[in-house]
Amino acid sequence: MGTEKLKKIAILGSTGSVGRNTLDVISRFPERFKVVALAAGENIELLAKQAWKFKPFLVSCKNEVLAQKLAPLLPKGVEIRSGKEGAISCATHPEAELVVSALVGAVGLLPTYEAIRAGKDIALANKETLVMAGPLVMEEVVRRKTKLLPVDSEHSAIFQALQAGRREDVSRLILTASGGPFRTRPKEEFPNISREEALKHPNWQMGAKITIDSATLMNKGLEVIEAHFLFGFPPEKIEVKIHPQSIIHSLVEFVDGSLIAHLGIPDMRIPIAYALSFPERLHLGLPRLDLIATSPLTFEEPDLEKFPCLALAYKALELGGTAPAVLNAANEVAVEAFLTHKLRFDLIPVLIEKTLQETEIKPLQRLEDVIDADIFARIKAQEILYELEKS
Ligand code: MG
Repeated sequence: MGTEKLKKIAILGSTGSVGRNTLDVISRFPERFKVVALAAGENIELLAKQAWKFKPFLVSCKNEVLAQKLAPLLPKGVEIRSGKEGAISCATHPEAELVVSALVGAVGLLPTYEAIRAGKDIALANKETLVMAGPLVMEEVVRRKTKLLPVDSEHSAIFQALQAGRREDVSRLILTASGGPFRTRPKEEFPNISREEALKHPNWQMGAKITIDSATLMNKGLEVIEAHFLFGFPPEKIEVKIHPQSIIHSLVEFVDGSLIAHLGIPDMRIPIAYALSFPERLHLGLPRLDLIATSPLTFEEPDLEKFPCLALAYKALELGGTAPAVLNAANEVAVEAFLTHKLRFDLIPVLIEKTLQETEIKPLQRLEDVIDADIFARIKAQEILYELEKS
């Protein structure tokens, strides 16, 4: 067909929600994309299936034990690695031109950072990379002249809307949030929210961690921090509005009062495909947005009393330095504790706030500062969790 060159792609987190959606997009355009490396965690059965279908040169899984189980399941000639080094090998694979960074949580930081240092373009779904180490990551992106293309639907929307005008004419970025499953639930009932209720997102199909983050609004908090570092606007110019229908994915306001919005069905394949093919757009063949069927589109202010996590994220930005990394680590501990029935839903923000108060915040100079802050904050959060469990 066309004369476009085959783009070679490595995927970090290939068996997760974004990873699977990325492979779905790629499978529709075999003449455009070639998968060269796949890094996953524990789901080796799916990783093996993906390896048979996409024939990468390299795959990596969580650890050596799983790697040995994976080996006989793979087609001949596929190299296997494991652990952190394995993920970094995928991220820096010599053949890869673009790396889809879709690991969940803090483990995504190092491989993504190394991919940038190796000069790869990045399709970024792992928001923790920017939350934890935003200034260091952006510095490296500039130094290596790579592209950092957002996959997060809100950031993809803003990235696209920003192209409508000059940067200096932007007055506000407005991130939309669905409000999650507890938007209309009274605060008094929050202590009784179950794991199962919290895992039911009204509009998006996502992994467990991000679904809980959406229910507490921490996901939006992390996205505010992500937007701040990615687009370089101060926190006071970044706002959040609740938009329960998840049709407008975000907006940019310009000084003349014009608002440029991005609308679409809530399907991650749209922002993923845009990051893969930027600046081109692909014929995805997905259902079109039916404006009549989705009417009306409504907006509300976020309720920070009910959802303190959003305010805590702004607080972490204000504190600066390692504070966003501490916030993120505390949140990961809190979500894991909630998912394993060790922490009540309403205590998630309490645990995060205490950790933020009781962990020393340091300036961010090197990546080691981020990694240390992450470790110390997890230890502190575990201590606080233990106290909360006792009380
Ligand atoms: Mg998002």
